[in-house]
Order: sequence, then C-alpha cells, then structure tokens
Amino acid sequence: MSDCLFCRIVAGEVPATVVAETERTVAFRDVAPQAPTHVLVVPRDHHAHAAACAAPDPGLLADLLVAAADVARAEGLEGGYRLLTNTGPDAGQTVHHLHVHVLGGRALGALG
Ligand code: AMP
Repeated sequence: MSDCLFCRIVAGEVPATVVAETERTVAFRDVAPQAPTHVLVVPRDHHAHAAACAAPDPGLLADLLVAAADVARAEGLEGGYRLLTNTGPDAGQTVHHLHVHVLGGRALGALG
C-alpha cells in the first residue's frame, strides 16, 4: 500500500533504524521510544491489525512473536519485556499496519 507508512519503511522508501529482518518481518526502532528499548516488529505484508491477519494468515502472527523474541534476546532484555499490539481507535492505534511493540530495559509497571 503506497500510502501506508510501515509499508513504505518495509520497502525502504522511508528511513528507519532497522535492527532485524526475516523473510516475512522487519524490526525497527520506534521513532518516539517509550522505554530504553522500543522496537516495532511488522510483517512485510500489509494487514491493518492482528485481528485482520488472524484468519487469512495465522502463521504470520507466530512469525511476528518469534521475531519479537529474537529482538528481545538481541537487545539483552533478560530481565523481561512487554509485547504490545494495539487494535483500533480505543486502543490508540495510530499506524494501521500490524505491528508488535517490543518494550523493555526498565521496570514497566502494571498496564493501566
Ligand atoms: P500504535 O500507536 O500502536 O499504532 O504505534 C505506532 C507507533 O509507530 C508509535 O509508537 C510511533 O511512535 C511509531 N512511529 C510512527 N512513525 C514512525 C516512524 N517513521 N518510524 C518509527 N516509528 C514510528
């Protein structure tokens, strides 16, 4: 999708600090980090959010979690980390291309 920011990052048309890539995923640093480590793991294929991906390509959700765990390991998050994926306006989703936030590097506290 030419008007999707994360599709454009995947295509290399918008710069990002890429930390890992697989056949089906790309991981890059969030431009406005909410923790010392804040990486976004996205699929190369466009899906609006996790629910939109679940039926057509459930294996891709597994690929995203495996890639996220690999990122956490590479970032040295042995103390733990949080995986988060927002779906829809009430969750505050701002980029409508499925992405998993990998947050860590400090005590994150309870979810509010
Ligand atoms: P969400 O609110 O779950 O849709 O998260 C979208 C995330 O994308 C936010 O944490 C933004 O800071 C991040 N973001 C927006 N634009 C960029 C960009 N060009 N490069 C990296 N991260 C971005």
